[in-house]
Amino acid sequence: MTIHGSCLCGEIEYQIHDQLGPIIFCHCQRCRKSSGSAFVTSTEILRSNFEVTKGQDRIKKFDNPGKVDRFFCSHCGSQLYSQRATTPLIMRVRLGTLDDTIDTKVSSHIYVGSKAEWYDILDDATQHQERP
Ligand SMILES: [Zn+2]
Ligand SMILES: [Zn+2]
Repeated sequence: MTIHGSCLCGEIEYQIHDQLGPIIFCHCQRCRKSSGSAFVTSTEILRSNFEVTKGQDRIKKFDNPGKVDRFFCSHCGSQLYSQRATTPLIMRVRLGTLDDTIDTKVSSHIYVGSKAEWYDILDDATQHQERP
């Protein structure tokens, strides 16, 4: 199967040639800062199943050596995916950038121990204080 996605301004388009993994809500402070919201929603896929079909040169990386590198559109700022140097075959795609409809729901919440106090988790998905 192929799932399509793009950034806010539309200059970057991508395709995922795979099923999506479990949907994770990350409540850590870094994800909150980077998204400007209560959490970042992403799913793990194989790097080899991700294809940028438009605007590769628009993708910028926020380097964070030894931790998570975050990739975003240099024009509109949309976060597209993140990657860890320690697991180069895997990437975490930001689900808010999908253009296709999917039928999966949130699987788990991570870093609940540092979530925003102004946000209450109201679903029944598994909660982890940090990364399981
Ligand atoms: Zn953009
Ligand atoms: Zn996080």
